[in-house]
Amino acid sequence: MGIPYGASRTSGSPRALVIGAGVGGLTAAAILADRGWSVTVLEQAAELEPVGAGISLAPNALRALDIIGLGDAVRALRTWTGRGGLRAPSGRWLVPITGDSTSARFGDPLVLLTRTALVDLLRSRLPAHAALRTGTKAVLADPGGPERPALVTAGAQSLEADLVVAADGIHSATRRTLFPDHPGLRYAGFTTWRFLTDAPPGGVQPHETWGRGRMWGTQTLPDGRVYAYAAAAQPAAHHARDDEPAMLRRLFSAWHPPVPQLLETLPQGAVLRNDVHHLAAPLPAHHHGRVVLLGDAAHPMTPSMGQGGNQAIEDAVVLGQLADPAENITLTPASYTRLRLPRTTKIVQQSARAARTTTLTSAPACALRNAAFALVGRLAPALMLRALDGIADWRPPERV
Ligand SMILES: Cc1cc2nc3c(=O)[nH]c(=O)nc-3n(C[C@H](O)[C@H](O)[C@H](O)COP(=O)(O)OP(=O)(O)OC[C@H]3O[C@@H](n4cnc5c(N)ncnc54)[C@H](O)[C@@H]3O)c2cc1C
Repeated sequence: MGIPYGASRTSGSPRALVIGAGVGGLTAAAILADRGWSVTVLEQAAELEPVGAGISLAPNALRALDIIGLGDAVRALRTWTGRGGLRAPSGRWLVPITGDSTSARFGDPLVLLTRTALVDLLRSRLPAHAALRTGTKAVLADPGGPERPALVTAGAQSLEADLVVAADGIHSATRRTLFPDHPGLRYAGFTTWRFLTDAPPGGVQPHETWGRGRMWGTQTLPDGRVYAYAAAAQPAAHHARDDEPAMLRRLFSAWHPPVPQLLETLPQGAVLRNDVHHLAAPLPAHHHGRVVLLGDAAHPMTPSMGQGGNQAIEDAVVLGQLADPAENITLTPASYTRLRLPRTTKIVQQSARAARTTTLTSAPACALRNAAFALVGRLAPALMLRALDGIADWRPPERV
């Protein structure tokens, strides 16, 4: 049952505070502002700094972005050349891809763009009346209830809100405040690296390459550069963060071109490294009182299906469709949990399984995996996309 929120509103539009200006928080701010909420986004970073990485958006996120008028702007950034596929470290093609099978199966493409481009687009959708306050660390003081607003502190300030959207990322302090007994994050057994660089002479054919306990991806970006990402199975806290380019060269310089070429020119400090964690168990709910958790704050997942950001965008759009600020404000956090928790839990689990497949360490298991993928790729390439059935074909709910 929804909680009636109108009672505690003092005057004017209902107030929404968004904690975190990542992909999820900015999408939520844009749609809530569209729906007539008075929105303030609180971001702890001094500015929305450019992140040196790409992000792939699947048809589900494109359709969610249609709701805030950004779907076509993202589709226009598509660079897919129609060539590429899955390779072995020797360079042998396991699954060559020659056409846009994602569009054929799901009615929309996979689009890879830089995170900076996505954040800029989302930011451009914030109306002037939505405030974005950077350099502002927010702390949830009271989740609120039917008869009282939620309370967030930001420095010396105490801010009341009819709705708090906690989009404060994988290490969400809000999640820990709301669910102190939850076991939290668990290391997924591997670490990842990401960087953007110039394409080597002659360009690259997009590929993902699976080795033993290691994987590498090279993808082309709309601005002509390439986005490279890699993963390696490692025990938790295996090594200190040190010379990441040297570490990458040690692990990957014997792999097929263009991997060694990309590593040769890699500038110091250009590599993002993340040890991968996911939630040890699903949360009991994605809301409490007037607070909803969104994106990585609610359901951090391994990046193996490229769905973390996509799901954050879905969360935000579903919330916007539910959170009607008209006369009787009946924002229904419980409906949000009902719509989002089962779906995202399934995708977290599916992503964990996909991660185990890509980071297999046993030689026979890797050989078997590569042979199976090569066979499927040869006989029925469309089956390669089956993992996205039920995910990429998602459509946003109608507005309440
Ligand atoms: C290697 C790798 C590759 C990935 N590739 C993809 C991909 O291709 N496609 C995809 O969809 N996903 C991908 N992901 C996942 C994706 O990056 C995340 O799921 C997504 O960024 C989550 O967005 P978010 O808005 O929930 O959190 P974030 O983007 O982490 O944003 C959280 C924001 O909250 C701010 N914040 C935190 N605490 C506070 C506070 N107390 N007060 C104020 N602000 C605060 C932070 O500074 C940050 O700006 C990948 C992840 C990794 C590690």
